[in-house]
Amino acid sequence: MTKPNALHAKASSAPPQISDADYQFAVNLMQFLVVPTFVLDAGGKVIIWNKACEKMTGAPASEMLGTQNHWRAFYDQERACLCDLILQGRMDEVGLLYAPHQAPSGYTLGVHMENWCTMPRLGMRLYLAIDAGPIFDADGRLIAVVETLRDMTVQKRVQDQLESMVVRDALTSIYNRRGFDEKLDAEFARALREGQYVAVLMLDVDHFKAFNDRHGHMAGDACLKAIAAVISRTLQRPCDLVARYGGEEFAVILAGTDLDGALIVAERIRAAMASAVVYETLGGESCRMTVSIGVAALMPSEKDVAQHLVAWADEALYEAKHGGRNCVVASTMATAVQL
Ligand code: GH3
Ligand code: MG
Ligand code: MG
Repeated sequence: MTKPNALHAKASSAPPQISDADYQFAVNLMQFLVVPTFVLDAGGKVIIWNKACEKMTGAPASEMLGTQNHWRAFYDQERACLCDLILQGRMDEVGLLYAPHQAPSGYTLGVHMENWCTMPRLGMRLYLAIDAGPIFDADGRLIAVVETLRDMTVQKRVQDQLESMVVRDALTSIYNRRGFDEKLDAEFARALREGQYVAVLMLDVDHFKAFNDRHGHMAGDACLKAIAAVISRTLQRPCDLVARYGGEEFAVILAGTDLDGALIVAERIRAAMASAVVYETLGGESCRMTVSIGVAALMPSEKDVAQHLVAWADEALYEAKHGGRNCVVASTMATAVQL
């Protein structure tokens, strides 16, 4: 990909004019292109807005030509488009204005970005793949920037769904073991960078086999869904994460939380679970389940490994089971290692 600064390096202070013949040829060429395309001159005004672009955006060329209103076709609020960033040498802002993505392989000209656009004229969001590149005259002066668009909404939705399926549990829709491990690694790395605590709760449903045996596997599944919902709504911060670790075991990550804070959250979950009705039989019996919870927290140093936290919380969970169930036990391991 051409370096952003190099794209802008040849822009002159006084915008050069495009000759009439060149302009007419470019207009004719662009109008017939099936790819939605628009072009800004060196002064940032729209000089071409082709038919495919009109169709994609719902914005007629008559409203765009000669103006700097091209952003209105894509966004509700005024902001720079990719072509503006190239023209104005503001490529350092792309990370703020566009979605992270993998640039298509083999790409060599201009800049490729992707973004959700609100498309005010259409009244619906589209995920657009955007390619923008500079046009230079024979003297190497920047005379225009061309931007082409591709509607990737369907592909993006499918991609998001597939990515979500990989890290989500099909029964409960909360994160699965893989999602948990990925998030824990990320939170652990962040805690290490920022000198913060990170805490893990391991939860196991008490006597779940007896519930299954009595009410059947389907009822057990419904119960697991209800338990996931109770834990999810008991967590208060958007950064808290709950996962189904396996079977009837759940795991929670609490970022920026020390052992005392994690114990408070764990106790809140234990109490919420003990009082919630997680299943009602056809005969009208209200079933409640309890959970045992092990808690570990750590402010990581370089020698620590994220999975140690899981192991410590698991050991504490084992203690909670042996301590009579329906209780919370703190791991002493993290404290011992820190000393
Ligand atoms: P404890 O208090 O010691 O944890 O007892 P428990 O009965 O919960 O523990 P145990 O490990 O003996 O049994 C767990 C049960 O969870 C056995 C298994 O059939 C059930 N289970 C695991 N995954 C699922 C599931 O996806 N659906 C249903 N319905 N049951 C499941
Ligand atoms: Mg278990
Ligand atoms: Mg159990």
